[in-house]
Amino acid sequence: MTDLQSTITCPECGHQSTPTMPTDACVYIHDCPGCRHVLKPRPGDCCVFCSYGTVPCPPVQAEVRDKFPKIVSKAHSLRMEK
Ligand SMILES: [Zn+2]
Repeated sequence: MTDLQSTITCPECGHQSTPTMPTDACVYIHDCPGCRHVLKPRPGDCCVFCSYGTVPCPPVQAEVRDKFPKIVSKAHSLRMEK
């Protein structure tokens, strides 16, 4: 099952928002509702959900699940701790 809700944490002000991810597009720009900072993906990430969200975007979820069926959520949470 694909999780379409990802909580994005703004790196500038720490504000959290939980937009619903589209399944057919990558979200490249996210305006922080807290400070109006424009979030963009970090190098190597396809969208703001992969960089700042608690859940990677749907295409990446599917891809990771194919390769690593058991560790998808664990891998992403480890990355978020850095
Ligand atoms: Zn912010």
